[in-house]
Amino acid sequence: MNYFIAANWKMNKTIQETRDFLKSFIPMTGGITGVDIIVAPAFTALLAASDEMKGSAVQLSAQDMFWEEKGAYTGEVAPGMLLDVGCSHVIIGHSERRQYFHEDDAVVNRKIRAAHKAGLGVIFCVGESLDERESSRTFEIIKREVEQGMVDVDPYNLVVAYEPIWAIGTGKTATVEQAQEVHSFIRKTLRDIYGNKADAIRILYGGSVTPENVDSLMACNDVNGALVGGASLKSESFYKIVSFKKEN
Ligand code: PEP
Repeated sequence: MNYFIAANWKMNKTIQETRDFLKSFIPMTGGITGVDIIVAPAFTALLAASDEMKGSAVQLSAQDMFWEEKGAYTGEVAPGMLLDVGCSHVIIGHSERRQYFHEDDAVVNRKIRAAHKAGLGVIFCVGESLDERESSRTFEIIKREVEQGMVDVDPYNLVVAYEPIWAIGTGKTATVEQAQEVHSFIRKTLRDIYGNKADAIRILYGGSVTPENVDSLMACNDVNGALVGGASLKSESFYKIVSFKKEN
């Protein structure tokens, strides 16, 4: 199973900056094997990114979408529009969407089902806040988010990203033990839903991943990749992450 490493650029980079990054990054990735590399620029730069990625193995993701196919939904973007612009994936349920745009588990589930129906791969994010961790509710929150997110969802074309909210953009990374503990809990929760089919679902870690900590995180049993924010904005830094040292 390949590792899966995705860059989440959030609300950063113009069209030109996106092109410049990819012109520098894509040639660096030629020799990398065993890693699916995905980049998620802002909506406005998807077309330019798709153009730069042509003929390369780097794949394009959006950071969000709406569940309807078309219609009077001002400001929204449909799954088919993402396919049209060249996306293979979409991030759904990121904690910033849950926090600032009030997306709850039902909304996240609806989006995942719509993305799958359109044929998009889903990067499904879950994670607990600092309060929830400190009040020993981590497993309860993760179980709820995974179970509710996966209602009527097939276990294909899907990766789950564990992103402890307290580790996102803060420079605080979960320790290897903390990451492995939650990843193995997510694996168990997925097995309870899907049986053996759950073992094909890659579980990514996200939260202040850097070139310095990526090797030890990727060496954990149930860590199958990473979702990277800040450290994916510079091509050299993201290259160091996707070329992490694999154990054999
Ligand atoms: C993210 O928001 O998906 C993320 C992991 O951000 P950062 O790497 O900056 O913590």
